[in-house]
Amino acid sequence: MNVVVSDIKRVILLSKVSTYRARPFLEAAKRLGIKVVQGIDMDPALVEHWRAPLGLQFDKPQEAVQKIVAFAREKPVQAIISIDDSASEIAAMASEALGLPHNSSKSALASRDKYEMRKLLSQAGVPCPEFTLYDIAADPVQIAATIEYPVVVKPLVLSGSRGVIRVNNPLEFREAFLRVKRMLSGLEQAPGTNNILVETYIPGIEVALEGILTRGNLKVLALFDKPDPLEGPFFEETIYVTPSRLPERIQTAIADCTAQAVAALGLYHGPIHAELRVNDAGPWILEVAGRSIGGLCSETLQFGSDISLEELILRQAIGLDIEAYSRENRATGVMMIPIPEAGILKGIEGIEEAKQVPLIDGIDITVQLNYPLVPLPEGDSYLGFIFASGQKPDEVEAALRQAHQKLHFQVEPMLPLLQ
Ligand code: ADP
Repeated sequence: MNVVVSDIKRVILLSKVSTYRARPFLEAAKRLGIKVVQGIDMDPALVEHWRAPLGLQFDKPQEAVQKIVAFAREKPVQAIISIDDSASEIAAMASEALGLPHNSSKSALASRDKYEMRKLLSQAGVPCPEFTLYDIAADPVQIAATIEYPVVVKPLVLSGSRGVIRVNNPLEFREAFLRVKRMLSGLEQAPGTNNILVETYIPGIEVALEGILTRGNLKVLALFDKPDPLEGPFFEETIYVTPSRLPERIQTAIADCTAQAVAALGLYHGPIHAELRVNDAGPWILEVAGRSIGGLCSETLQFGSDISLEELILRQAIGLDIEAYSRENRATGVMMIPIPEAGILKGIEGIEEAKQVPLIDGIDITVQLNYPLVPLPEGDSYLGFIFASGQKPDEVEAALRQAHQKLHFQVEPMLPLLQ
């Protein structure tokens, strides 16, 4: 391949059209003076209309990779970053074709398919739940009789805890299995939609680890405690607070377990986000993805005096050394505001009062009024975000809870037809 030598630093950012996660990357790129070319998943008819420099179809990965490679031959790029899991395979394949450091394509597959992830983790001996794959056409009553409870029933392909259900007995198993089956039958036929995964339930506390890999070496950027009990039946995300209040030795074990998982999945370069549980037997991996933390949660992270997580990721992407950066000293946290009930969101009161709570930095409501709220397991898990920061994690957590109590949501029941 001919390499065009250029001083311009350029990064391709792959994302869906409807993501608010692109903005912090674009802002960080501006600060760094680097060009970001957005590779957006869009209908081919719209590419011309929008004059999109790099319109792609994520459901045609080979074609998307060819387009990226052709683009990069004209205009060299230092990295290809996928903002979420939807294009991590394309990012891995295009980076490989262009000779850029990249995650393995098996890691990209694992981030889209929970069964693939479990297989890779367990083959490598990484502590994770035991699991069995079932065909959606199987008889749940028969399966239910063979299971040791509690277990977690989940689809292979959804994210954000959608369709993830804890069950404690055969009756609940049948219901959950049929519920997930109904959810999957509403999706387009795609790989993974014909199966349901059943895993042993791992009791314990849950944490999230944000990290960055430089050619296989893991640097932990932040460890978040999730102080609300997540015991099911559904697993709604709520509070994340960092730094973790867990003892140093447990934090080290969590980092070691994540490093093991990262190696097992073939994650090699760039951001990673891991979710783990911890109990008397030590840490257990629930999942690891080759991307940064979701939603607006990255706003809780700052490195050095004023560097965002996205800026750190871009710095690494263009080959700058990021070893010296560590998270600021303050404690920070975010609450993903849970959906109170199903219905149409008619109004939210108390936002100003909630913002006045000491240590609260901001409140971002991301749902729109007059739209239907569909709670887990079928729908989404949150309405927006509350951010707080302070000296200690305990006070940050308390502020988040206090602010949340000030918020009142008016939800009208949906017409039966829409339910
Ligand atoms: P998603 O990728 O949709 O978020 P996960 O498989 O990560 O789905 O599960 C979402 C949440 O469900 C986890 O964060 C955890 O709280 C809970 N969970 C999932 N699997 C298990 C398990 N085997 N044991 C205990 N809790 C689990």
